[in-house]
Amino acid sequence: MLAVQKATPETGFALAEVPIPSPGGGEVLVEVEACGICGSDVHVYQWTSGYEWMKPLMPVTIGHEFAGRVVETAPGVTSISKGDRVTVWPSMSCGTCQACREAQPEHCERKVTLGLTRNGAFATHVTTPASQCFVLPDNVDFELASLTEPLCVGARAVEIGEVKLGHTVVVLGVGMIGLAIALMARRAGASTVIVVGKDDPVRLEVARSLGFSDTIDLAAFDLTTEVQRIVGGKVDRVFEATGVTASIRDGLSVLRRGGVLTVTGIHSKSVEIGLTDLVRNKHQLRGSHGATRATWVTVLKLLAQCGEEFRPLISHRVSLAETVHGFELSIRKQASKVVVMPKLAPANTKGKS
Ligand SMILES: [Zn+2]
Ligand SMILES: [Zn+2]
Repeated sequence: MLAVQKATPETGFALAEVPIPSPGGGEVLVEVEACGICGSDVHVYQWTSGYEWMKPLMPVTIGHEFAGRVVETAPGVTSISKGDRVTVWPSMSCGTCQACREAQPEHCERKVTLGLTRNGAFATHVTTPASQCFVLPDNVDFELASLTEPLCVGARAVEIGEVKLGHTVVVLGVGMIGLAIALMARRAGASTVIVVGKDDPVRLEVARSLGFSDTIDLAAFDLTTEVQRIVGGKVDRVFEATGVTASIRDGLSVLRRGGVLTVTGIHSKSVEIGLTDLVRNKHQLRGSHGATRATWVTVLKLLAQCGEEFRPLISHRVSLAETVHGFELSIRKQASKVVVMPKLAPANTKGKS
């Protein structure tokens, strides 16, 4: 089968022909129908710092935001059946570390991530433990289901940032996670959600198409002035989803006293912040990464109830052979979410370009 792999510690991916894997104990084999390109996959593609630990694992097939159909189950697997339509929580806990023993698998110290530390889903088939599978509600199609993982990351960030009814919120970043946070903050009851990008017209337009009328392009406007204009002061909550260090100081500058800034970006550089200001402003700085099993259940319910609300997040659909093209679209900020659909013929690539 065709698989998109990180084979060497340098920019790019290799398109490899590899055998279809067999499910091991407790596992199932999933035929992939849709797999989204994630911001973290882009970091791996570009080989920016923060992923050096992947070197000894190469070659590894990338791709962790996926949905598909179970085509084979290992003997003894009863929770999932052949033919089930599933999406998969790619973060697998060890079951034995202290966090796992304390029933907090999301904090596992030895977690394995499908598509980063074990072979993922930019391929026609992938194996996964049956315990990581969530059966899809009947009305959730595969491409919507492939959004589950990033929507969970957004939902979890909103839980960590404790968005409450009536809060004013600034989201820095218009990539998938920024948009997912904005959508979940609105669902959590925020009165105003301001979506901020920088020289990112295509994705700011996606934000507006999702109903966010308050957007700021930092290439043309000043953050403080615009936030003041929109909410008449500072905001209750800020979320950072850019990976750009300057955005942490930007975020703190528009956060009201006692407010919470939640960081979700992967930062290749460190940042200096004035701790006296942090203390006097009683600012809370929090980190959010991944999600919990409960978040997965919640987001799948949301997709079943109002899936169409989320579909505009998908801007492009490409075939497996065109995966690298999809990455280039993401890097050039020409796309919000690119979904790789292995069954799509290359010439059939759909979407704006
Ligand atoms: Zn992801
Ligand atoms: Zn563990």
